[in-house]
Amino acid sequence: MQRKQLLIGGLWREPTNAKFEEIRSPFDQRVIGEVSIAGLSDVESALVAAEKGAHLWRRTPAHKRVTILLKAAALADERAEEIAQIISAENGKAIGEARGEASRSGEIIRLAAFEGSQLYGSTLPLDANVGTGQEKIGFTLRQPVGIVVAISPFNYPALLVLHKLAPALAAGNAVVLKPARTTPLTALALAQCFLDAGLPEGVLSVLTGSGAELGDALVSDKRVRKVSFTGSTVTGEHISRIAGIKKLSLELGASCPVIVLKDADLELATNSIALGGYVNAGQVCISVQRVIVDESIMADFLNLLAPKVSAITTGDPGSVDTKMGTLISAKEAARVNATIQKAVADGAKLLMGGQIDGSIMQPTILTHVDPRSSIAQDELFGPAIAVSSATSVAQAIDLANSTSYGLGSGVFTRDVSAAIQAAREIDSGIIDINWTPLWRADLMPYGGLKSSGIGKEGVRSAVEEMTEVKTVVLHGQPWNPA
Ligand code: NAP
Repeated sequence: MQRKQLLIGGLWREPTNAKFEEIRSPFDQRVIGEVSIAGLSDVESALVAAEKGAHLWRRTPAHKRVTILLKAAALADERAEEIAQIISAENGKAIGEARGEASRSGEIIRLAAFEGSQLYGSTLPLDANVGTGQEKIGFTLRQPVGIVVAISPFNYPALLVLHKLAPALAAGNAVVLKPARTTPLTALALAQCFLDAGLPEGVLSVLTGSGAELGDALVSDKRVRKVSFTGSTVTGEHISRIAGIKKLSLELGASCPVIVLKDADLELATNSIALGGYVNAGQVCISVQRVIVDESIMADFLNLLAPKVSAITTGDPGSVDTKMGTLISAKEAARVNATIQKAVADGAKLLMGGQIDGSIMQPTILTHVDPRSSIAQDELFGPAIAVSSATSVAQAIDLANSTSYGLGSGVFTRDVSAAIQAAREIDSGIIDINWTPLWRADLMPYGGLKSSGIGKEGVRSAVEEMTEVKTVVLHGQPWNPA
């Protein structure tokens, strides 16, 4: 087993405090690897290196950046199986899902490489402003922000790292990445693809260790011009309080609703919900948490849904027969289970599930859920859905909007008017008609409203948010027409 050093400005180095920690499988606790625990002096070294890296990379022509990113993408493709094995081992994700996640790596890097080569500006019609003649020319120029700090969560250790790294690098920024403490090995394997592709010194650092210890130093530093954070709303609020004057993207928590109207295709709706509530053991920000079903079709809906959910197999994440792997830890499984038991005590009915065995939880359906109760209002981040009823489109939309979050939502209906009404009235950053919110194309704008965050990811949006616009005006002298 290899002991991983810190990546400081593209060079592997021992952590200054010489501390390391083991990364263990959430399924059977076997040791997967060993990583460095960075300290505050390593943060300083990474930022010093990033200043030099940002200076160099910003002045590297876009076509050279593209060439390096395309090589990194090809390496990520070649190493997809190795990366999938690391994801499944350290995260507990079923190997089939881990392969799906790893196989998107190369494509995200390619999409970002393209967007980084498209930093167009615009020409300003200055003479339309009273008092300004044709002797002036104005245009906008886009440039990288400089140093981007990227902080990522455990649940998609490849995807969510790459949605920050790839656009930041493509746009010409230096990056200091702090991956989740439980899943750092995937981030290190991906970083190696960029190094092997020829990323110059200084441009990329990966600091493994504790977010609580390193976070404030990274986020509040004035040399950092952008913080791109994905994680819980609590941590996001803390970051927004201490960041100071810099760009911020916060991709935070959610309690995503799905509405099933009385004219819905119930086969489609139940197939989609049986996926959307349980992929990655429900540890997805766009997971289906609340299902709001028209009262008149409730019995048919549950009859169709129940066998599909009970067919989800759990167990060893490394086995191809396992559909749903573990939660990130036994502690998390116990927390999710306690929330479900509390919902039952508050009056919800347990249709299936609600048992845990270490870090594995059985897929769960709760019905008769009071939409104001904690199981509906607070983020669950586990493999359970909470079903409530509504009697009209308007009431269903009101319930969908009734939490402090607004990341994703889904609506099942064959009625175009109801779909348009829902698209206009639901306050969420992403709305899927005839699918659940658990769907993402890596190029689409992706981000939440309300307490689900600020800013958008998706490669084009991320490149935009990781660059600055300058306005340039050339002041000529008026001339006499010939
Ligand atoms: P988390 O506890 O907030 O951690 C996220 C990252 O922040 C980790 O790298 C963590 O480091 C770091 N961190 C912890 N304290 C910090 C601090 N004081 N300053 C700076 N960074 C700090 O979230 P999680 O449990 O890993 O992830 C689950 C959450 O992420 C859920 O709420 C989920 O909805 C959200 N999420 C949102 C999206 C989205 O697109 N909206 C996508 C995925 C996940 P350590 O690991 O070392 O603590």
